[in-house]
Amino acid sequence: MTVATHGASEAIAAIRGIVADGRRFLITSHARPDGDAIGSQLALALALQCLGKTVRIVNRDPVPEPFRPFAGAGLVEVAPSVEGDFDALFVMECGDLTRPGVSGLERYRAINIDHHLGNTGFGEVTWFDESAAACAELVADLLDGLGVAWTREIATQLYIGILTDTGSFRHSHISARTFEVCRRIAEAGVDAAAVARQVYDSGTTGRLKLMGAVLGHMRLEAGGRLAVLWLDDEILASAGATYDDTEGLINLPLTAATIRASLMFKRTDATGEVRVSLRSKGDVDVRAVAQRYGGGGHRNAAGFTAPPGVDAVQERIVREVASLVAP
Ligand code: 5GP
Ligand code: MN
Repeated sequence: MTVATHGASEAIAAIRGIVADGRRFLITSHARPDGDAIGSQLALALALQCLGKTVRIVNRDPVPEPFRPFAGAGLVEVAPSVEGDFDALFVMECGDLTRPGVSGLERYRAINIDHHLGNTGFGEVTWFDESAAACAELVADLLDGLGVAWTREIATQLYIGILTDTGSFRHSHISARTFEVCRRIAEAGVDAAAVARQVYDSGTTGRLKLMGAVLGHMRLEAGGRLAVLWLDDEILASAGATYDDTEGLINLPLTAATIRASLMFKRTDATGEVRVSLRSKGDVDVRAVAQRYGGGGHRNAAGFTAPPGVDAVQERIVREVASLVAP
């Protein structure tokens, strides 16, 4: 499929025109937002406010706890649908218009800003740049295009996007541009260490116990190169943890040198659905697997939702990832 992607300068010029002519803007991002979804949305929202625009952010799911203390987080409204008049809709980080999980978005003039391979090119303006380490990296360019100075609050949101989407500067796609944006973030007065402490070290002791429980049940496959983690409500309850505490657990196995990929199944009784998360190192492309099951992501970080009751499918998924890392 060919995607009508605008180059950066063309897209920025188009967006600049839409912003100049408009007054009310709507911003959304994907369901179960991560740091890049939140950081990209809030940096843009704060910038549009600097330009005197009215902004609403509507997401399907709340801002995860670690990102709540930062300026702008209170702007996010949680709703399953949206209505009202807006001059344009910004869709951050979404391959298509179903990813937000918010109904009513189709009626707006959409600006699609994303870095996930497989973006369908929906919207009046599509700015898709797979080489960006985070969507926030694109937002950084956009802010310059809109002539908005990077306040400390705006730069903090950009940093949250970059820090989290690079897996703390571990994933592929980190470039000179990434560090140039970070240099300017530091210049804007952001305390990078304090942000990282809040993002990564503000968890509960329940989460710590959960790490123990989940790693205690870790299964190794492919000659010890693949770690498989499992999580359900029973494990959560025994650790005194909540679903929010599961964020990031998938990355733990990758701290071992021998492990090339990590796969996690999370089942919630509320829906019976199984969320599948995949992580990998280097050239191991887990996105390809996620895509086969209707999900997506990046080479080193991907995910999808499996239908209820799929034990056999789970074993197949394990085998597919195992084959990617087999010696
Ligand atoms: P996580 O494992 O943290 O849920 O997701 C990791 C990466 O995969 C993120 O970049 C996210 O955008 C992508 N991803 C996760 N779930 C889905 C999904 O259901 N569909 C698509 N298209 N991408 C997903
Ligand atoms: Mn991202």
